[in-house]
Amino acid sequence: MLNKINSNVEKLNKSATLKITALTKKMVSQGKDVVNFAAGEPDFDTPDFIKQAAKIAIDKGFTKYTPSAGLPALREAIAKKLNDENGMNVSAANIIVTAGAKYAIYVGLLTVVEPGDEIIVPVPYWVSYPEMAALLGARMVNVATRQEDGFKLKPSELAKAVTSKTRVLILNYPSNPTGVTYTKEELEEILKIAKKNNFYVLSDEIYEKLIYDGSDHVSFASLPGAQDLTITVNGFSKAFSMTGWRLGYLVANDEFIGHASKIIDHTTSCSCTISQHAAIAALADITWQAQIQKEFQNRRDLLYKGLSGIKNFKPMKSNGTFYMFCDVSGTGLSSFDFASRLLEEKLVSCIPADSFGADGFVRLSFATSSDQINKGIIRIKEFVESL
Ligand code: PMP
Ligand code: GLU
Repeated sequence: MLNKINSNVEKLNKSATLKITALTKKMVSQGKDVVNFAAGEPDFDTPDFIKQAAKIAIDKGFTKYTPSAGLPALREAIAKKLNDENGMNVSAANIIVTAGAKYAIYVGLLTVVEPGDEIIVPVPYWVSYPEMAALLGARMVNVATRQEDGFKLKPSELAKAVTSKTRVLILNYPSNPTGVTYTKEELEEILKIAKKNNFYVLSDEIYEKLIYDGSDHVSFASLPGAQDLTITVNGFSKAFSMTGWRLGYLVANDEFIGHASKIIDHTTSCSCTISQHAAIAALADITWQAQIQKEFQNRRDLLYKGLSGIKNFKPMKSNGTFYMFCDVSGTGLSSFDFASRLLEEKLVSCIPADSFGADGFVRLSFATSSDQINKGIIRIKEFVESL
């Protein structure tokens, strides 16, 4: 018999996004003609100039540990990017390079949250936030958002959720799964509440480059007076199609970074050295990003147009990310039943939004080709009309 399992771990749920994505990839490898609307990663290959930098790093023997917070040259390149593109005022000392943005979030929370503390999260949320909160023994406080408000967190609702135990608000924009993003004015309202009540804002900006219709991405830490209480998370997975390279970063005030880097010392030691060298090359040439941003916007338009007009199926035109949040409550099926039956009956995979805390919706990813999008639209239409 096994010894006792940590009860926080025992209660943890598997990641629905990773599980369904893996199942879809398996079905495709078995030769099944599945349309993959589940994918949480860009379908483009990592650009060649980034791969070349990794090959050179291996050949030059850069195959040993780096300092735990990351290569100084990479931290400097990230600081330059944040100052030039995101209007921040940071140096390499404010940055820790991590094994993926997911780990940056976990380290960020672990640095400030103690068991019993409260973490505020707007619903719908990305699947891993509640599980990380549970792992830390923290209490996750869900704040509902409404479809008619475009699923944006309302400052008045946020203010109501704050207590003396609130330590962090997790804000993710553009949002996975809804694609919603925030204006500077909206973020300033949230900042006022954070300052007044002295809690951190963990701003997960991993989809910052995937933003459409000429909207701007405003980094939370760039707001006047926000830098000291903001923990910014970003990475290379989505912006450079580098999901498998596992590289993200955490940006915060010096004191915070000093403590957080101790967690890296004793957990991962550092992130992959070869990936770090590749990331330096990635940041030196961002022309590729503009091309994929344009391609994603075209695909979003194609998917939105194709799905509009299907009775009982309501897509939301996302402002960012490569996800489209769709209301399926009119079909009478739960999110889970809708997604399971769509996969079984029509070979289209998507993520049921109960895993994002929002039953009655599904998340479709348009990180796939236009041909696949067109095929998927026909199948969804046939499926919904057959119900
Ligand atoms: N935040 C959000 C909202 C995400 O969707 C993802 C997707 N993987 C991540 C963080 C983590 O990205 P990664 O660990 O691949 O850098
Ligand atoms: N973030 C992506 C998604 O939501 C990738 C999978 C994951 O890391 O959860 O699908």
